[in-house]
Amino acid sequence: MRKTPIYLDNNATTPLRAAAITAMQDAMGPPANPSSVHGFGRNARLVVETSRSAVAMLAGCRAADVVFTSGGTEANNLVMAQYDHVITSAIEHDSVRHAHQNCHQIAVDENGIVDLDMLATAIAGIDDAAKPRTLISIMAANNETGVIQPMDEIATMAESANIALHSDMVQIFGKRHINFAASKVSYASLSAHKIGGPSGVGALLVRPGCRLSSLLRGGGQEQGRRAGTENLVGIAGFGGAADDAFGDIGHYQTMAKWRDDFESRMLDQRSGIAVFGRDAPRLGNTSCIAASGKAAETMVMAFDIAGVAISAGSACSSGKVKPSHVLESMGAGPRAGEAIRISGGWATTKSDFETLADVFLQLYKQPA
Ligand code: PLP
Repeated sequence: MRKTPIYLDNNATTPLRAAAITAMQDAMGPPANPSSVHGFGRNARLVVETSRSAVAMLAGCRAADVVFTSGGTEANNLVMAQYDHVITSAIEHDSVRHAHQNCHQIAVDENGIVDLDMLATAIAGIDDAAKPRTLISIMAANNETGVIQPMDEIATMAESANIALHSDMVQIFGKRHINFAASKVSYASLSAHKIGGPSGVGALLVRPGCRLSSLLRGGGQEQGRRAGTENLVGIAGFGGAADDAFGDIGHYQTMAKWRDDFESRMLDQRSGIAVFGRDAPRLGNTSCIAASGKAAETMVMAFDIAGVAISAGSACSSGKVKPSHVLESMGAGPRAGEAIRISGGWATTKSDFETLADVFLQLYKQPA
């Protein structure tokens, strides 16, 4: 094991940015209920609103559109609970897939792109009376493959049918420029711990005029859209991270080159390598790659021993290994069990990807 392990599992969570740590330290200590009218309360309110502006800046929306939540999971559940019927895709995060009883799933192609013909058919099947109670929910970028969906086309389809559109933007946020205000997306989910902020805090972006009532019963926080005293320290950290991430988006374009070089090296030197979603637009930080005959779990452990932290498919909170629904939907078949996910983050360097390639080649000794 190398002295300082290399962390390439940033789609699971990221290390905290220094700006997030400082913002959280500053927010810790004083009594801090942003609803209180005294000076302590007003200071806390300032922290919340400063963070809201930083998140809005990174998401390209108005500060008033940002509703703080306990994370991406809550944001997804919150928006889906507003509607009676949801059209979604087969590759969504479980917090979308399992959030609604009445879900119609759209298939994806072998590159993980949503089948737009099938989506058009599903939209055409909704009668006018049901449209105001229907939500389309399609993620902007996938957490396992990094594949980016054609959100503009999807948004145009939703708009012409007069149906609200939600997008889980947890993975794309901070890695690509987002302009929520200029888009036709009605709602978007964000999470702080994917951009160098703390876990346990996120946001739902809500376009003006789109419905949103609090799932939790309690106080009137977040303009009545999310009850409960604000997680001040978490929100402060989210704001600090968002501020820092704003200047950092170009890093992910540079990283795409490191990632592509790594994948080319594997594909050139070894047979039996498959890269999922390689022919689709992808986030620059993600590689979902399989080596023939090597079970993902074994590879993850071998990488760990060699000092490189990666994961097999998406991290599973229960610790149980289950086949990836994303790769299955892409038709990966048994190769899904060999797929490992490499994901760089704000602290990742070129040499991390070079070491990754060296370790991969050592572990996968099958001749070309
Ligand atoms: N959506 C996607 C695409 C994710 O990758 C994740 C986290 O892995 C979530 C939602 C959930 O976010 P959180 O961990 O903040 O609840």
